[in-house]
Amino acid sequence: MTSTVDSFAELGLSETLLKTLSEIGYETPSPIQAQCIPALLEGHDLIGMAQTGTGKTAAFALPLMEQIDVKVAKPQALILTPTRELAIQVAEALQSYAKNLPGFHVLPIYGGQSYTIQLKQLSRGAHVIVGTPGRVMDHLERKTLNLDSLKTLVLDEADEMLRMGFIDDVEWILERTPAQHQTALFSATMPEQIRRVAQKYLVNPREIKIKSATATVAAIRQVYWQVSGMHKLDALTRILEVEEDFDAAIIFVRTKTATVELADKLNARGYAAAALNGDLNQQMRERVIEQLKSGALDIVIATDVAARGIDVPRVSHVVNYDIPYDTEAYVHRIGRTGRAGRTGNAILFVAPREIRMLRTIERATRSPIAPLTLPSRADVTNKRVTGFKDKVAEVLNAEGLDFFSNIVAQIAEEQNVSAEEVAAALCKMAQEGRPLQVVGEDPPPARAFERDDRRPAAFDRDSRKPRSDERGERGDKPRYEDRPRREDRPARPAPAGDMVRYRIDVGRDNGVEVRDIVGAIANEAGIESRFIGRIGLYDESSTVELPAGMPAEASNALKRTRIRGVPINLRPDEGRPAGSSTGERKFAGGGERKFDGDRSKFKKKTFG
Ligand code: ADP
Ligand code: MG
Repeated sequence: MTSTVDSFAELGLSETLLKTLSEIGYETPSPIQAQCIPALLEGHDLIGMAQTGTGKTAAFALPLMEQIDVKVAKPQALILTPTRELAIQVAEALQSYAKNLPGFHVLPIYGGQSYTIQLKQLSRGAHVIVGTPGRVMDHLERKTLNLDSLKTLVLDEADEMLRMGFIDDVEWILERTPAQHQTALFSATMPEQIRRVAQKYLVNPREIKIKSATATVAAIRQVYWQVSGMHKLDALTRILEVEEDFDAAIIFVRTKTATVELADKLNARGYAAAALNGDLNQQMRERVIEQLKSGALDIVIATDVAARGIDVPRVSHVVNYDIPYDTEAYVHRIGRTGRAGRTGNAILFVAPREIRMLRTIERATRSPIAPLTLPSRADVTNKRVTGFKDKVAEVLNAEGLDFFSNIVAQIAEEQNVSAEEVAAALCKMAQEGRPLQVVGEDPPPARAFERDDRRPAAFDRDSRKPRSDERGERGDKPRYEDRPRREDRPARPAPAGDMVRYRIDVGRDNGVEVRDIVGAIANEAGIESRFIGRIGLYDESSTVELPAGMPAEASNALKRTRIRGVPINLRPDEGRPAGSSTGERKFAGGGERKFDGDRSKFKKKTFG
């Protein structure tokens, strides 16, 4: 981990919150927490740059909670989030951190919810408001939200608010907050407009950036599974069963609570597993590691700190059950395998919203992480059957079967069945409690862009975003939806269906490559990368074919997208007929000057 801070206690938090954190199982602060919490407690304004999943909520929530006076029934902190899902999620997090703060009240307010309900809740007096910019603005305008007692203002996922077109609203709110308050701005990226907002509204801010140090990783096989369609636990056991060369594993999770829970569940499924976390004293910890060494344990479920420095050569696998906070943690974790000259395997579980972290890890370690297709039921069954046959073969080769042959013969005779039928019955007996056949559902086949099937198929880059409803059935038609999966990139088939050619203002002269374009478009517009058509790369601009019928949200997002810092200014390409480009990944030479004259027509409106 980047942070050298091992405990929340070092950060200056109150005993009450420390107790809560311990109760909910947080063991060590994440790097962004380690740096932000002291700065915020000291009262500084702050800019925090870190990706999704790095623990930003607690980074701002804990310090702001220290400042709340529960006796004052007025909003003392306002947190702006881009979406209602996020508002709810952040409010829930605060509520959980407030479990030992009686009377503490946090209220999410967002569009789509009835005003009557919100007004009632507001009038009851919440200490912290978490809301989307539009709805907060409405309440300020109606004077149903009063910020006179505001102490802290947080802009969470500022870049996302910009991307979704909320930055004007955010500024409007910032202009109407009392002069004296602390402001914290969090963003995964720092586009110009956000930088400008920060300069204008933050006072002397501390800037905290979780950098991803580059590091080389040893010859470890690295794969990832994008969590979807199946529980992590089921996926884990399937993978463990089928992995070749499995000997022992260390599984990393975020909380100590999770180490215990997962250990229990794996034990229940017949694995020799134990938890390793900061609650264990040194002696107990050493015992667990000794047991892993000796083979008394095969699996240890650990938090980052607890697993520090473990050197057990038989660890063939490291599983990142919860994604690490940063690349350093990743490198450190996977370094627990591949020791003493043996080959190691690192498996990473990545939720759709964590794809960015996956990319960062790949970039920082300069090694690609390949997608893993989950073993099917048949795969697992085959593996079990093979193992079973091997065991039987072993016994067949051993001495001393005569006594048993005799029994089989007796049973066959008495029951008037063949020896084969007797053998079948014995097999059935032998596998009792550990069935050879896998029952249950198979995960959907690994397809481009697998998504959680509980979610509707509407354009929805992230589960936290409000969905535009009713976009029709998911057919095989190009869809604008979730995040891309990397593996689709290498073999991109020509997409079916109507395509529209667009032009963008970045080209070779900007140092742009095809993958930059695919990545940016897939990410920003939520278009499955396999549906991104041919890309023509020219000196000053490029063309890209995208499915017809792009929803306004996606095209708006793309209008504001930047590649290598340059706004791409996506607009339909009227310059040349589609199809005249030299094909996917082959690029016509020559600058496309002819387009420049037309550019003003498509120039995006200045934003913000
Ligand atoms: P972000 O806002 O950066 O995307 P979140 O604040 O939503 O990240 O945190 C991601 C997950 O990590 C949440 O499930 C949260 O409970 C967990 N988490 C955050 N900080 C810690 C910590 N110090 N120890 C263990 N788990 C943590
Ligand atoms: Mg967050």
